[in-house]
Amino acid sequence: MPEFLQCFGTETACAEAVRSARWFEGFACPPLRRGRAQCIVVGEGRSLYQCHTCRRQTSLTAGTLFGNAKLPLTRWFLAIT
Ligand SMILES: [Zn+2]
Repeated sequence: MPEFLQCFGTETACAEAVRSARWFEGFACPPLRRGRAQCIVVGEGRSLYQCHTCRRQTSLTAGTLFGNAKLPLTRWFLAIT
């Protein structure tokens, strides 16, 4: 458990794990399936990615099982593992 908390004890660490799992080849704009994005921090460790090409904003968790959750990612990671 201490090891787990060390790796996934923070929202940022969890978000990074989700990001690397989802966009392991880099950000993918949903309509374009590719592209580059700018990360915009919107507060409380949450961030949005804005596509450079179409300006569409996507949250890291949109379209994933985390997307509708009101729980912090840290809770999810505890529940899953
Ligand atoms: Zn786009």
